[in-house]
Amino acid sequence: ATFGTLSDRLAETFKNLRTKGKLSASDVDGTVREIRRALLEADVALPVVKEFTQTVRERALGDEVSRALNPAQQVVQIVNEELVGILGGQQRRLEFAKTPPTVIMLAGLQGAGKTTLAGKLAKWLKKDGHTPMLVAADLQRPNAVNQLQVVGEQAGVTVYAPEPGNGVGDPVKVAKDAVAQATRAQHDTVIIDTAGRLGVDAELMKQAANIRKATNPDEVLFVIDAMIGQDAVATAKAFQEGVDFTGVVLSKLDGDARGGAALSVASVTGRPIIFASTGEGLDDFEPFHPDRMASRILDLGDILTLIEQAQQAFDEEEAAKVAEKIASEQFTLDDFLKQMQQLRGAGNIKKMMGMLPGMGSMKQQLDDFDEREIVHTEAIIQSMTPAERTNPKLLNGSRRLRIAKGSGMTVTDVNQLVQRFEQAAKMMKTVARGGTPQIPGMGPM
Ligand code: GDP
Repeated sequence: ATFGTLSDRLAETFKNLRTKGKLSASDVDGTVREIRRALLEADVALPVVKEFTQTVRERALGDEVSRALNPAQQVVQIVNEELVGILGGQQRRLEFAKTPPTVIMLAGLQGAGKTTLAGKLAKWLKKDGHTPMLVAADLQRPNAVNQLQVVGEQAGVTVYAPEPGNGVGDPVKVAKDAVAQATRAQHDTVIIDTAGRLGVDAELMKQAANIRKATNPDEVLFVIDAMIGQDAVATAKAFQEGVDFTGVVLSKLDGDARGGAALSVASVTGRPIIFASTGEGLDDFEPFHPDRMASRILDLGDILTLIEQAQQAFDEEEAAKVAEKIASEQFTLDDFLKQMQQLRGAGNIKKMMGMLPGMGSMKQQLDDFDEREIVHTEAIIQSMTPAERTNPKLLNGSRRLRIAKGSGMTVTDVNQLVQRFEQAAKMMKTVARGGTPQIPGMGPM
């Protein structure tokens, strides 16, 4: 899918970063170099890549990172924020005229997806209670009028089209007449489909500019195929000069495009991306959200949060030691206790456990979790000798009785704790090996 490779590359970059504590300047440089390479491979325009990586580098070497609890995490946040930035920052909604009809003109190369978009937009507006009218001002391409009539029918909206047999016709007059007709018939929105060519064409651009002048649209949407790759910037600039569009629509985001157009266009034109088209069907269409698109690209989601919380709970060295012990099956009661204490320190064991893959079924047990039990567990484990903590197999009857007395708990409490420890050790081994834990009645800790 679009951004697939870019997502993978960025994830790989951050995976290397996140095992580290403090970041050195060369860590940052290495990461920035990787990001730069990933963006260029995704066909993002060079000036955009340059500015992006420069900003990320400056911020990554700055205070916000060195002061951060988790510097690697902070770098990921910065990249995310900057991505949202080049995608336009805030979501920009379609603007409506104070006095209807709102006129929306579509422009773009042939095959960009304008006619399809006209149908999508009409259907979307209609669903929202508007009364759109479609206008066929693409008199260039044979069959364009017909195609618009088909999508209009699918969307269930009126289509204003020149009479068949009218020859080439005058698209400027058609568009102007259409707006007048829409006003009379009380359509509150008018969507004008214009002609496109395979390449940017001066004649056609002039025609589009004349349609713009004649109809004074509230929005001029430049439709661009996300698959266009490196040509995105030149095409967008030509249309910006030619018709001065107010917003961008990215089409074919469902394809295998590398995503460069998406990441370049808003930034080089300073015009917001308003919609995204994601398929041939009329419903494959949505308002564009820069922040959602950025998270789709970074694709770290819950894992990011999990790392964050895990690293708040364990200092890294400790975590590494625990992981090693689990892997080598040397997980002791001391480790168990330490973990419980750290989790309590983090204060959100439920949240953290809930986010581990495969832990959903544990939710009920987690809800039963009583933090006071940690105090009891502490008392019991602290009454054990170091040898007993390292090797719970030593715990025979008389030792268990001694521990119960020493901790002010019962032998049954001690037995339950040992049993739970064994289950926890087993569970952690499974998690450490990447499996889904099976916990028979974890019970209150
Ligand atoms: P126009 O020349 O700009 O009017 O482009 P069309 O609307 O005729 O679209 C050209 C081709 O792209 C058609 O085959 C559409 O079905 C297809 N198309 C349009 N939008 C999308 C999209 O978002 N995703 C995919 N996969 N195909 C699209």
